[in-house]
Amino acid sequence: MSTITSASASSDLVVVRKEGLYCVPGQFYIDPWRPVERAVITHAHGDHARGGHQHYLTAETGVNVVKSRLGPIHIEGLAYGERVVHNGVTISLHPAGHVLGSAQVRMEYQGRVWVASGDYKVEADSTCAPFEPVRCDTFITESTFGLPIYQWQPQQEVYDDINDWWRANAEQGRASVMQCYSFGKAQRILSGLDPDIGPIICHGAVQTLNQVYRDGGVWLPPTVMVGEVEKQDIGRAMVIAPPSAAGSPWVKRFGDFSDAFASGWMQLRGARRRRGVDRGFVLSDHADWPGLMQAISATGAERVIVTHGSIPVLVRWLQQQGLQASGFDTEYGDDEADEVKAAGAAADTAATAANAHATETEGAADA
Ligand SMILES: [Zn+2]
Ligand SMILES: [Zn+2]
Repeated sequence: MSTITSASASSDLVVVRKEGLYCVPGQFYIDPWRPVERAVITHAHGDHARGGHQHYLTAETGVNVVKSRLGPIHIEGLAYGERVVHNGVTISLHPAGHVLGSAQVRMEYQGRVWVASGDYKVEADSTCAPFEPVRCDTFITESTFGLPIYQWQPQQEVYDDINDWWRANAEQGRASVMQCYSFGKAQRILSGLDPDIGPIICHGAVQTLNQVYRDGGVWLPPTVMVGEVEKQDIGRAMVIAPPSAAGSPWVKRFGDFSDAFASGWMQLRGARRRRGVDRGFVLSDHADWPGLMQAISATGAERVIVTHGSIPVLVRWLQQQGLQASGFDTEYGDDEADEVKAAGAAADTAATAANAHATETEGAADA
């Protein structure tokens, strides 16, 4: 694939090394996948924040999230917008709107400005600081949902659909089991739930992150562990659990429940069926196609480097718009598919959709 080459002119501020994205004059890495001395971390999802680095720098609001996932590490927090100079490179972090503490990394050196986005979402939600467009010459963007078929509904409509599903189940005395990623997606769903419908039970993995969010000043509705709920109330409960809990004894205790899965991938035809759940809710913490376009154009960048996701499609599109575009081959994964057994299938379908996106725009939602 000729588009996935890193055009590495010697003056590039950021290049790909075997350890990860590397700021050459600054001598630090961004979300490296191998252990390094200095790592700037965009957010605490496992493929971006890995263990083993000697020194971590991340957004102040993300410090406790990273610590809760990586244990004792040497980490420093930087307030959004605050500047530090490292080896002559001015570094600042700016909200990415993805999860609590998520940041874009702005690097300025000898008059040139590069921004590495990490993962981002342009629609604001109440669980993290909203995405901030940052002007730059070169923008390194993710492309998880970088295909024209991905266009999200306003999140309030999705929250309403989730509450309607929960209410209908509660009226029939069936628990509602929502499978979703335990960091970020779970808290975003919680923030949209109507707690008057019934108790909200969280799996331990989710509850741990809820505490970090609450400690960080994010409002979430009251949640309980399963042992704290009276048996007769289980039939009205919303249960928030990671996909890895599906089929486990932990989830079987809820008896005859209805289940659902929340992810941007649920927009793909067949995704819900492959997950084997009753409902699929299309809710993503990543930018959709119009969101990517909006974010890229707001940077004013002449050059765009595309990472994890639909690199060839987005690169080609940007080139057609007259921008200088190329790809970086990274080892970032897909947090929407993490813990999801059907990740491979979703990726395959996405590739197929890339070839057929013109005809796939309608009826792609499975739910
Ligand atoms: Zn992420
Ligand atoms: Zn990512």
